[in-house]
This record gives sequence, C-alpha cells and structure tokens, in this order.
Amino acid sequence: MSLEVLTPNELTNMDPVFGQLSFDDHEQIVFCNDKDTGLKAIIGIHNTVLGPALGGTRMWQYSNEYEALNDVLRLSRGMTYKSAITGLNLGGGKAVIIGDAKTQKTPELMRRFGEFVHSLSGKYITAEDVGMETSDMDTVREVTPYVTGISESKGGAGNPSPITAYGVFMGMKAAAKFKFGSDDLENKSVIVQGIGHVGESLVEHLTNDGAKVIISDINEERLEAVKAKYGAEIYTGNNIYTEPVDIYAPCALGATINDLTVNKIQAKIIAGAANNQLANELFHGRILKNRGIVYAPDFLINAGGIINVYAELENYGKAEIMRKTENIYNTTLEILNSAEADKVTTLEAALSIAKNRIEERKKENR
Ligand code: NAD
Repeated sequence: MSLEVLTPNELTNMDPVFGQLSFDDHEQIVFCNDKDTGLKAIIGIHNTVLGPALGGTRMWQYSNEYEALNDVLRLSRGMTYKSAITGLNLGGGKAVIIGDAKTQKTPELMRRFGEFVHSLSGKYITAEDVGMETSDMDTVREVTPYVTGISESKGGAGNPSPITAYGVFMGMKAAAKFKFGSDDLENKSVIVQGIGHVGESLVEHLTNDGAKVIISDINEERLEAVKAKYGAEIYTGNNIYTEPVDIYAPCALGATINDLTVNKIQAKIIAGAANNQLANELFHGRILKNRGIVYAPDFLINAGGIINVYAELENYGKAEIMRKTENIYNTTLEILNSAEADKVTTLEAALSIAKNRIEERKKENR
C-alpha cells in the first residue's frame, strides 16, 4: 500500500503520528510552532546510530498536516540510508516547514526555525532542501551552529546542488554501463523532470556529454532560460512517462513512480535526484525490475549534496568532495550487479547494505 492510493480520510483515520504509514521506528519527531513568525515546522529524526541526524529543510505548501508529517517521515528515513550507504558517520533527519517559500519565508521565520534546531543540541543538523537557498542557511547560522550548507564566504561548503547533480550524473553513467554496456551518454535521450538547482546542473553535464536532453518543469520561465542556455528541448507532450526515452531523470518531487505511472514508463533507466522516487519501495521497485527497467536508487545517487555538507563537519576540501562523489559511479555499478546476482530489486540491494552498516555500528556501540 502506498500513500498515494490512500484517501485523505484513510490517512486521518490512522493514529496521528506513530500509526502513520511512513512511520518507521523514528527516534524523535519534533513539532515546532511560533505564532509571531507563523512558523509551523516538523523535524523528523529517524536514526542516530551512525552519528547526528543530518538532512535538509524543505518548505512546501502541503495540502494538510498529514502530508507534511508523512513527507518528513519518509525523507528523514531516506537520509539514514543515504548516509549509511555513502559511508558517512551521520544519522538521518529532515525538517519540513509548512508554507509557501515564495511568500511566507522571512528571516525572522528562518531564525525562529534555527532556534528550534538549536534546542536539539546537535542531535539534528539542518541543511538546504526544496524551497531553501544558501542564504537561508546563513540566516539559520546566526542562531545555531547546527546547520550546514552555508555560504563559502562564511566558511561553508556552499550550494550543494551542483555536487548532487554531479553524483546523479555519475550514478546515471553507471546505470548506462550496466544496461547498455557503455557509460557514454552521447546521443542517449534523457528527460529531466524538474530543472531547479539540481536539474539544471544535471542538464549541463548531460549536454557536455552529448546526450539529447529533454526538459520538463511547471515553471515556464525556467524552461525557456534552460533551453536558451543549453539548447535543451522542452517537453510538450501530455504524459512524460510514456515518452520513449532512454533515461528518465526525476529531479522535482518524490513518488513520481506510483500506481498510475509505473506500468507506463518507457525509459530503460531511471536515475534522478528526487528523494523517495518510488511511492512504494517494494511494490513499485519489483514492477520496474520485472519490466527490465534499471532503477538507480535515489538515496544512493543523490548523495553528492550530503557529501558536500559533510565536508563542513569533517573539514575536508573540494578535491575529497569530488572524489567521494565520483565514487557514486562504483557503488551504483556494484549495487546494480549485486541486485541482479541476488535476484532482488536495486533498492533492496542498496537498503540491505545500508542497514547492515547500521547494525554493525550498533553492535560496536554496545
Ligand atoms: P528545486 O526546488 O531547486 O527544483 C525543483 C524543480 O522542480 C523546480 O524548478 C520546480 O518548478 C520543479 N517542479 C516541481 N513540480 C514539478 C512537476 N510536477 N513537474 C515538473 N517540474 C516540477 O529543488 P532541487 O534542489 O533542484 O532538488 C530537486 C530534487 O532533488 C528534490 O526532490 C530534492 O529533495 C532532491 N535533492 C536535492 C539535493 C540538493 O542538493 N539540492 C540533494 C539531494 C536530493
């Protein structure tokens, strides 16, 4: 069962927090409210066995609080496994701020949010996600040290998105190597859904590699700007999933591979930046596998951003960031091969490695 097939009534009929479908033994969930600034946020701490829970803050106009809660539960869980599989000593956390980032985000609101982060004494460390800019992290930094992704001019590692895009590009190349026998993307058709911070940078890598890039976004201005800059083709059809492309790169929001789309997808590879691309990990992952579509696990290939912000905590430089991000190629290839050998989905293979690392650390910590 996936969230997408549940009606709002079914969601509200579940126990409000621990009974939610996305609840997965999360350690702590913090609800933050501030009347003066209008802040309504939820911080989700999924697991801190490997280290402090690090993950970005998303500001989004959710249609109701259940949607926001389920988003933070799913996203924070994803962070646990992302850091685990990337070999970082970090746990998984995430925060969501309910509201429109364009009209409701103010420095006062961000500072108040930062104070809530600070009250957790470093158990949760925040960063940028959808609806956030590097400058917002700078604002949060005014009230707490438990924030990453601050400006380079302020001693931070800067905007993580270009590094995320590079990692996605590496993962995509590995998937191409696995599926087509070569990681050369020249003349391969790639549809990039969402050309925001990460998507645009991915378009640049793909264009440089000679791929035939098709772009899709709900923001017309961005489409025109990215088309003008890279010569990408704007998608004009009415069902992106049925487009007969080589690669589909989801770089907007999660759960685009769901009951309505999974059987329609014509791409041979799915590799993108969005978190939680499969509405139901097991069910939709198995359908993709049965249909011969190679799915590069999202939390594995979009780890560039966390590698970048981790540098701020561990004090390593750009060269090490790039080396670790480039290694996403090798890890992806290993996982695709092991999934095939073990007859499991690629996501199951990736999750099992990540979970084993956490279990091992748990034993060491005892
Ligand atoms: P962003 O907000 O900059 O870009 C998202 C883009 O998607 C926007 O241009 C938006 O208009 C577009 N969009 C929204 N709904 C759409 C739809 N239905 N169809 C087509 N386009 C749509 O976000 P971002 O930082 O580029 O992140 C993109 C995705 O990657 C998110 O899911 C994010 O969680 C994930 N991610 C980002 C990073 C990072 O470093 N920024 C790291 C890991 C994962």
